[in-house]
Amino acid sequence: MPKHGAAVLTIDLDAVAANWLALRARHPSGPVAAVMKADAYGLGAARVAPRLLAEGCRHVFVAHLSEALVLRPIVPEGVLLAVLNGVTEGSEQAFLDHGVVPVLNDPGQVARWSAAAVRAGRRLPALLHVDTGMNRLGLAAAEVRRLAEDPAPLAALDLLYVMTHFVSSEVADDPLNATQAARLAEARAMLPPAPASLANSSGVFLGALGASDLARPGAALYGINPRPGTPNPLTCTVSLDAPVLQVRDTAAGDTVGYNATWRANRPSRIATVAAGYADGYLRSLSGRGIAYSRGRPVPMAGRVSMDLLTFDVTDLPDIAPGMSLRLIGPECPPDSVAERAGTNGYEVLTSLGARYARVYAPVRPLG
Ligand SMILES: *Cc1c(COP(=O)(O)O)cnc(C)c1O
Repeated sequence: MPKHGAAVLTIDLDAVAANWLALRARHPSGPVAAVMKADAYGLGAARVAPRLLAEGCRHVFVAHLSEALVLRPIVPEGVLLAVLNGVTEGSEQAFLDHGVVPVLNDPGQVARWSAAAVRAGRRLPALLHVDTGMNRLGLAAAEVRRLAEDPAPLAALDLLYVMTHFVSSEVADDPLNATQAARLAEARAMLPPAPASLANSSGVFLGALGASDLARPGAALYGINPRPGTPNPLTCTVSLDAPVLQVRDTAAGDTVGYNATWRANRPSRIATVAAGYADGYLRSLSGRGIAYSRGRPVPMAGRVSMDLLTFDVTDLPDIAPGMSLRLIGPECPPDSVAERAGTNGYEVLTSLGARYARVYAPVRPLG
């Protein structure tokens, strides 16, 4: 269905693949999975998954069972398809029917999956999540100890990995990184032997500290910088180009947008483009957003509206209706947009709107 007048979101699957290969090269201790929760961080899991499988990816993580069921027809049996949020009451049979593997995040989930294994009459695969500092999901140290003392529930399970999740791996010198790795080692020493899964994207860049039998990066696949404050070793995977609907002249003293937060201090030209906060262009970018045209920055004028943005193009006389302004791209990657918006690149990507015309193609400079 053509989306006339919509902003064009270009998604570069070659760049995603290149990022996965770059992560794999940085994690020699074990294979590298792909985290594809939230529709592959907004890029489209149904398109990302086949591309990464073709590169050799054999482990896929999502957050919800529903996300796994969407991917199941695409992800062959034999590739791990795991649900981070785990197995909830009543969902056991769906996991079994579709060969989806739960991450077990608390003693209740361990008991639930173990009971399902007894009913099924066979050992069922699972990952066991141990909490080492996040205090979000995962077995606490005391719960691991209890499980070690009474390992009966584990006897029914095929423990594929014991995993944990870093709290602040993007801060390379945060002492929590080493503490968490040590706590994971302590937990594994108590449990039946099983491989370990540790690093998220930034964890892969911690070197030996983040090394394990399976890395689980998400953000870095999609071009988010795993080491903020240092040059991004990964490639930008998206561009977002919004069409100029109108260019209008304003007199000195005129205001633009809701609540008149921008006032022209000279005769000005204002370009109105077709994207807004309903498209995930965050409203916190009001008065702070920057678009690009042929590599030149264009400042926002006034507030972000639901469907429209206004930019001061007084100094770019070539801007005309029918052209586009670039809102995200190599010139202004998700991390930079996020910094201006007071958030992180993850939120910029996962907010990308449903009204954009999505094109899977190489990301190029906007001419
Ligand atoms: C989201 C998530 C990941 C991936 O994290 P990134 O920072 O995006 O690489 C890995 N493991 C768990 C448990 C997660 O929730």
